[in-house]
Amino acid sequence: MNKRKINHIDTETLRKWIEDESMTDSLMKKADKIRKENYGNKVYIRGLIEVSNICKNDCYYCGIRKSNKNISRYRLGKDEILSAARFGYKLGFRTFVMQGGEDSHFTKEFMVDVLKSLKEKYKDVAITLSLGERTYDDYKAFFDAGADRYLLREESSNPSHYNKLHPDSMKLETRQECLRNLKKIGYQVGGGFMVDSPFQTTDDLIRDLRFLEKLEPDMIGIGPYLVSHDTPFKDYRDGSFTKTLRLVAILRIIFPYALIPATTALGTINPDGRRLGLMAGANVLMPNLTPQNEKRSYSLYDNKLNTGLEAAEAKKDLEKEIASFGYKIVDDRGDVVDFGK
Ligand code: SAM
Repeated sequence: MNKRKINHIDTETLRKWIEDESMTDSLMKKADKIRKENYGNKVYIRGLIEVSNICKNDCYYCGIRKSNKNISRYRLGKDEILSAARFGYKLGFRTFVMQGGEDSHFTKEFMVDVLKSLKEKYKDVAITLSLGERTYDDYKAFFDAGADRYLLREESSNPSHYNKLHPDSMKLETRQECLRNLKKIGYQVGGGFMVDSPFQTTDDLIRDLRFLEKLEPDMIGIGPYLVSHDTPFKDYRDGSFTKTLRLVAILRIIFPYALIPATTALGTINPDGRRLGLMAGANVLMPNLTPQNEKRSYSLYDNKLNTGLEAAEAKKDLEKEIASFGYKIVDDRGDVVDFGK
């Protein structure tokens, strides 16, 4: 069986699925069935370590953009990263996600050193990086030092929309080249986008889905666009919760094999967001292992969830809660379904 089968859906059907609120339940049911055929009732957990909120970029939507003078900036040192990982490992996490702004302090040498130390200590963990755009050489060095996966959302695959979300210094072409480089090197690669980011049209979303069909990512992360009051987009509105659920379901239908998180943004916009995200076909949760003080400063958008399901300390409660709606948290690396084949 070809486990990487992609279900191509025609454009007019996609348009209806994306726009028609009344389709939400039926899409979620269809997606849940497909996810059960591929992953059963398993939910994979990733321990998220937000390593730095210092960023050289100025994305118009993002609360940690360079020009925001209203947040206190931090970066974790090697010891703090290792200590967050130690804590997570004890709790049963077997994937760590190191995510951060594009911080020049995270040089190739620093990252290689951290990655090697993590992999030496924890032989059975997978490491995911989400540190933005880097050179081929950096990506290769990180991979050789033990990084397994890389998350880099394309944000928009329509260049004119992409340019409305980012300053001139950022180019969609560069982002797409990074994604191709990551695949070439051998990473499990994750793309994705925000739902209802300013100026986004249904055609843009369909184009994003088509881009992902070509990319064949292992992981796909989407969440609603959420307002951050410290950005040029402060007067736009939060994205639609139900449209995001429909898009999670659509992703599961198109990419039955993929690892799809019920993201923090989904849990922020609706208290039941991550549960409903799982019911819409998501199979990954990313509880936060970032030390408490820094967690508050990683404010990508307003009111970012950092308690409850979000807190790794609450893992036992999380397991119970996930079981109560019919899914099971598993403590393994949680690779994509045909990994290594
Ligand atoms: N610097 C890395 C990068 O660009 O991939 C990783 C950090 S970046 C802050 C992680 C993700 O946060 C982005 O891909 C973006 O989609 C999401 N994000 C940023 N601002 C957001 C907002 N206002 N609402 C929802 N998601 C947001």
